[in-house]
Amino acid sequence: MKDKKKDIRALTKEQLQEFFVAQGDKSFRGSQVYEWLWNKSAHSFEDMTNISKATRQMLEDNFVINHIRVDQMQRSSDGTIKNAVRLHDNLTVESVLIPTPKRTTACVSSQVGCSLDCKFCATATLKRMRNLNPDEIYDQVVAIDNESRLYFDKPLSNIVFMGMGEPLMNYNNVMKAVEKITSKEGLGMSSKRITISTSGVPKMIKKLADDETKVKLAVSLHSAIDEIRTTIMPFNATFPLEDLREALEYWYLKTKSRITYEYIVWEGINDTRKDAEALVRFCKYVPCKVNLIEYNPIDDGVFQQASSDATHMYESMLERNGITVTVRRSRGKDIDAACGQLANKSS
Ligand code: SAH
Repeated sequence: MKDKKKDIRALTKEQLQEFFVAQGDKSFRGSQVYEWLWNKSAHSFEDMTNISKATRQMLEDNFVINHIRVDQMQRSSDGTIKNAVRLHDNLTVESVLIPTPKRTTACVSSQVGCSLDCKFCATATLKRMRNLNPDEIYDQVVAIDNESRLYFDKPLSNIVFMGMGEPLMNYNNVMKAVEKITSKEGLGMSSKRITISTSGVPKMIKKLADDETKVKLAVSLHSAIDEIRTTIMPFNATFPLEDLREALEYWYLKTKSRITYEYIVWEGINDTRKDAEALVRFCKYVPCKVNLIEYNPIDDGVFQQASSDATHMYESMLERNGITVTVRRSRGKDIDAACGQLANKSS
């Protein structure tokens, strides 16, 4: 049987340089090819015009470039763009471009499906198929950067890992992608413009702090009462709030970076004063701000956005306690591109 060709973008720059040296070529050739692969996002070896024909053929014989393909692009009436992204093995994920007057934000996926089973999230209805590779995460960002330049006349300014999947359960690949996104040979973006959103995996939050990546951290909290959080986010039984609190304290001690809590208020689930008081108490542990997110129904009939009175109650209680709170309106609902709605419906 013929050997399967290797994915060239699984190699580090050093490995690529060593490969060329082993072929009797210069290590510099490795740097040139690396730049084509990442900075210039070459889709084929043929595109690499400053590399000799013979070398390109040799690469062709040994490697593949597993580039993602944007199968379908949908535009919402509010300007939000959703890409259905096909991977080399035919699985699909989705990513979203969210424009505001000042910036454009890419919301990218980290897994096909998700490791977790949050009851209110559409992605959880898909089973986790596999982790995305660093290049598959990077390519989503490049595709959105191109769309941002094309449709909004500006480069991408921010990235949030709030698409499909739990980024901290695909830690190594997500961090390799971040490294490419921030390096000069990649997109050269600042890591301060990247937010990792997690349901709260304590051990990995600590690792993220130790690795000094300078990315921002957002935690999908949704309840500061264990019994309730476990009902809506069952993995809370394994990683209860006390463990999360300890990891967040560690994060702040190490990074001095304020945490964002994402929080949805649902009718009959977490809409009482007792719930809001628990959130206020939780917010006192580490410097933070709260993002009250609008719920995007996933048509299961169980979860419903609480009344605006309940949201106001939360807002005023947080403000009274000196905690910054913002209410986030949903974007891209008409094309199922809003938070928690990504379930490959377009494909
Ligand atoms: N797994 C990561 C990132 C993906 S979810 C995390 O949990 O943070 C991104 C955000 O969308 C999270 O804050 C999540 O709680 C929120 N979300 C999930 N389902 C939603 C829904 N139906 N409506 C609004 N937000 C939702």
